[in-house]
Amino acid sequence: MELCNPKEVKALLERHGFHFSKAKGQNFLIAPWVPREIAAKAGVDDSCGVLEIGPGIGPLTQALCERAGKVTAIEVDQTLRPILAETMADQDNLELIFGDVMKMDVAALVSEQFQGLRPMACANLPYYITSPILVKLLESRAFESVTVMVQKEVAQRICAKAGTANYSAFTVFCNWYAEPEILFDVPPDCFLPRPKVTSAVLKLNVRSQAPVRVKDEGLFFRVVRAGFAQRRKTLLNALSSAFSSIGKDTLRDLIVRCNLPETVRGEALDFAQFAALADEIAAQGLN
Ligand code: SAM
Repeated sequence: MELCNPKEVKALLERHGFHFSKAKGQNFLIAPWVPREIAAKAGVDDSCGVLEIGPGIGPLTQALCERAGKVTAIEVDQTLRPILAETMADQDNLELIFGDVMKMDVAALVSEQFQGLRPMACANLPYYITSPILVKLLESRAFESVTVMVQKEVAQRICAKAGTANYSAFTVFCNWYAEPEILFDVPPDCFLPRPKVTSAVLKLNVRSQAPVRVKDEGLFFRVVRAGFAQRRKTLLNALSSAFSSIGKDTLRDLIVRCNLPETVRGEALDFAQFAALADEIAAQGLN
């Protein structure tokens, strides 16, 4: 059957008594060009092992199986089990796992599933849990790339430049692990049910090493989070709240020593500047 044909999809779901779950972020693709383009632009070929999160009824799974050496798909919704058994019956390079990706050891799963293959992640993500899943995938350091459909505004936030309104601690986090690029937009009418917002497909090309060296990565991320925690405050005031044991005068000296104006806001700092500040704190033994 055509997994993106709205009539056929509705008939399939009705036959199985399936009901969409908003809580599970279920918006299924009904435009055949979208899964095709995701699989192609992700750069999937037969040297790749692809982890898919949330196959739904399997339109992206099918497109990935046509190109990849192996696809492993994790689906939380057990009611999709009989549907996927039917729609994916012909895919002999597919393994389906039913469970919650957030409760899984992704790095262990990847090394168990994709021996000898180049690991990639690909998904039309459930929007209610986009950021936690991205954090989990990137922190696993298990993938060469992560290609995901997300809300367009989330994609824009991840790709934002320092000093712009969209720039956030999550931007810095994602860019620390990967180089992100927006591949294309996907309008609401490509989904059933139709979401309110436009989506975008984002490819995160995972870095082999961090973009700048830091003495203490944990401290670097504490400084970044502090810098964005209270956007209307200066960096000095924001750091004073987050690092209350250091003292405001010492923090002011550290900021100035990094060649930053005393009144600078956290959102103006790029990677290298956050890194320099974290290293100054570490060098003083204040972490
Ligand atoms: N890939 C399908 C498509 O493009 O038509 C479905 C995408 S739909 C946006 C998201 C899918 O993720 C749903 O099938 C949902 O049940 C599944 N899902 C939601 N939370 C999940 C979780 N924690 N772990 C695994 N799958 C999850």
